[in-house]
Amino acid sequence: MLIVKTTAELQKCLKKLKNEGKSTGFVPTMGALHQGHTSLIRAAALKSDVTICSIFVNPTQFNDKADFEKYPVTISRDIEMLAEAGCNVLFLPSVNDIYPNGFNQKQKLDFGFIAQTLEGEFRPGHFDGMAQVVELLLYIVKPNLLFMGQKDYQQQLIVRKLISSRRMKTKLVVGPTLREKDGLAMSSRNVRLDQQARKLAVKISATLQQVKTDFRKGKQNLAQLKENGWLMLQNEPGIKPEYFEIRNANSLQTPLKKNEKIVALAAAYIGGVRLIDNMLLN
Ligand code: AMP
Repeated sequence: MLIVKTTAELQKCLKKLKNEGKSTGFVPTMGALHQGHTSLIRAAALKSDVTICSIFVNPTQFNDKADFEKYPVTISRDIEMLAEAGCNVLFLPSVNDIYPNGFNQKQKLDFGFIAQTLEGEFRPGHFDGMAQVVELLLYIVKPNLLFMGQKDYQQQLIVRKLISSRRMKTKLVVGPTLREKDGLAMSSRNVRLDQQARKLAVKISATLQQVKTDFRKGKQNLAQLKENGWLMLQNEPGIKPEYFEIRNANSLQTPLKKNEKIVALAAAYIGGVRLIDNMLLN
């Protein structure tokens, strides 16, 4: 696996590969990798000649400074995992390399409601920062395929809109959420959970699963299902839910019609760590 640390070096290497007619698959990450990330690398390696991964803890997408400072860094382990999963090129840029002219965005895109609701409401500025870095990375890498996880549900909806608004040729592929044996969605932040918080954390996926099971058994009063999900989290000492919502899977609006594709989404603090998860109900 080739490791490159500057945009210039990466572009030189990509130019050569593209001249050879190679197709590229790209997996952007913030490191502290787990099997959720490597599942995307493996999917990219299956569908592309060359698999590129970036590790960049993007300062502009952290609305909470402490969260940025505490973000786990495990670079030597990440390198081993990437090589093992079939990654060919690892891009490890510095903040200066990505933002040579500072953090200010020139033409900020307006993603509308999908970026204002849920995470947009509780993490102001997060999606602006995320879209800013994904756009920069896509301009640098220009991959044929971009791989992202369903775990960050709103993120993949916004990136889909970013790609179409900017008329990029990249195609987005969304991979399923990988989970621990007990159902907890894998996340780089899970390493910050202490033993007690780790035990409690399973309640998020268990609640989503319960709501999904109830929905599939025919309980289709969505307001009631949403209230049940919220209360299951709210009534658990040690869990501070921010939201539990059931929304249209594409627009994120409250579903009004029968047969809409719907998704349940939750965010909660457990032991001082903010976790998110979601499940498609139908
Ligand atoms: P992050 O490093 O958290 O920015 O995540 C990088 C990519 O990995 C994003 O596209 C995430 O959606 C994806 N990802 C994170 N956790 C998981 C998971 N448990 N399963 C599948 N993909 C994931």
